[in-house]
Amino acid sequence: MNRRLAQGFDAELTPADRAPVRAVIALGANLGDRSATLEAAVEELRRLPLVDEVLASTPVESIAVKPDGPDAEAPAYLNAVVVLTTRLAPSVLLAFLQAIEKRYGRERRERWGDRTLDLDLIAYGTVVSNDAVLTLPHPRAAERDFVLVPWLSIDADAELPGQGRVDALLERLRDPS
Ligand code: AMP
Repeated sequence: MNRRLAQGFDAELTPADRAPVRAVIALGANLGDRSATLEAAVEELRRLPLVDEVLASTPVESIAVKPDGPDAEAPAYLNAVVVLTTRLAPSVLLAFLQAIEKRYGRERRERWGDRTLDLDLIAYGTVVSNDAVLTLPHPRAAERDFVLVPWLSIDADAELPGQGRVDALLERLRDPS
């Protein structure tokens, strides 16, 4: 099998012809029954068409991050990471993630605002893209402890496309010197 197709994305192909690609999704919730929401969202991901091999991390708790930095006054987040394989095109996967967010009552009133559910596409195969609608890998993934830690817990060899191994990124984040 062509390795580029297995890890990249070829829009010319139909889903049935496309090789499964590994995608990484970050989940976060800081309102309502956070744990139940994350469990339900993982279940929704398992039920998506053209999605297989869904592996979910144990949730971790983290302080809310606002535009001015961490905010201990805001409700804390529960975060988890899901790794799955999919034949969905990246834009279609993002649309499904947004539909799931919407179903769980997320209102997009304020950027960085509190939310019942936030789903980010962290990586899609080895795709690197600066498109504002879907930036890959997710532009802030490398600086988010609450993404890297749960991701590493379910994939010890995880790599952020173009930025290196997740264990090394995490080490740098903890000790920038
Ligand atoms: P957020 O406030 O994180 O939910 O931002 C959602 C917006 O970011 C949407 O307009 C998406 O189109 C855009 N976006 C760009 N790249 C990504 C990505 N990798 N994952 C999720 N949303 C993204």
